[in-house]
Amino acid sequence: MNTEYYKIKGEHYHDTEIIDRAAQIIQNGGLVAIPTETVYGLAGSALIPSSAEKIYSAKGRPADNPLIVHIAKPEEAEHLAYTNETYYRLAERFMPGPLTIILPKRGIIPDEVTAGLDSVAIRCPSNEIAHKLIEVSGHPIAAPSANRSGIPSPTKAEHVLTDMDGRIDMIIDGGECDIGLESTVVKITDDGCIILRPGAVTEEMLAEVCDNVTVARAVIEPAVAAEEKVESPGMKYKHYSPKAEVILVDAAGEEFVEYVNAISDSSCGVFTSAEERHCYKTATTLITGEHINARDESKSLFRLLRKADEMGLSKVYIKLPEAKGEYLALYNRLIRASGGKIVKP
Ligand code: AMP
Ligand code: MG
Repeated sequence: MNTEYYKIKGEHYHDTEIIDRAAQIIQNGGLVAIPTETVYGLAGSALIPSSAEKIYSAKGRPADNPLIVHIAKPEEAEHLAYTNETYYRLAERFMPGPLTIILPKRGIIPDEVTAGLDSVAIRCPSNEIAHKLIEVSGHPIAAPSANRSGIPSPTKAEHVLTDMDGRIDMIIDGGECDIGLESTVVKITDDGCIILRPGAVTEEMLAEVCDNVTVARAVIEPAVAAEEKVESPGMKYKHYSPKAEVILVDAAGEEFVEYVNAISDSSCGVFTSAEERHCYKTATTLITGEHINARDESKSLFRLLRKADEMGLSKVYIKLPEAKGEYLALYNRLIRASGGKIVKP
């Protein structure tokens, strides 16, 4: 298959010809990779069963891992799912944005989209290209991350091209994704909500509008995620893994630097801020940003894991972040990328 590639830049996101072409592909049951504020998504109509099947096949995604359905406005969920008061309270505060809410599904959503579950994951993206495509196509859009299953999610169109060229109809390049990690996924419970996957909308932010916010154990415990019965099927798979071995080191600043410097091998990489780059003697430095902060470290994670492979590095050392606040999402992706291994010097 020939994959069409178009670039939409900055203010020209409403470049109507490209969006019209993409909308036509969606309506005809084809697939288009699109930028969102989290990561690039592989978009197909959520109303056409064969579109979902094409998504699973292009990604090599396990058939029991359901897709997130993207809508342009929170109230569009009414046709697709059974909403409630908590949904609207969360939607009012966090939509459009990086929050996905699991709701009981209506019959209009094919089983292929939800992997046979009786619930559906709903998100309303803020990225203008994603938003426009949903509006113009007139379809709710099923869109998992646009990577081959198991490897780091794409945060730039080049990543999508590497993984999906020849497998899908079109790629829209809208520049680098703002957030770089996938959306927060929550399930509404009788008295609040539970975080099934952490993201840029944190536990603390959710607690401002929702009582009894809890975090699923599988978020921070890979062993739990590996069990058969998990709330969110996607959590049981090894994920986000580059070819290089990811080594998480549970050590404070100086101790981490010493640990990495004791390994004199330039085929090893280390994640660092530009500011602290000079601390490392032999390891190849991969720069997360100017200074250490959750935003830059989250945004650069998948790009740098892919870069480590492009550079042919055998191992990458990453300091284990705290499993809380705005670092919880990063922690969650890192323990999956490393297969749950943590080194304590
Ligand atoms: P991705 O599309 O690759 O960002 O992954 C979507 C995530 O949402 C996976 O972890 C899925 O298991 C989860 N998910 C999607 N639909 C549901 C659902 N109906 N119930 C629980 N988790 C879901
Ligand atoms: Mg994914």
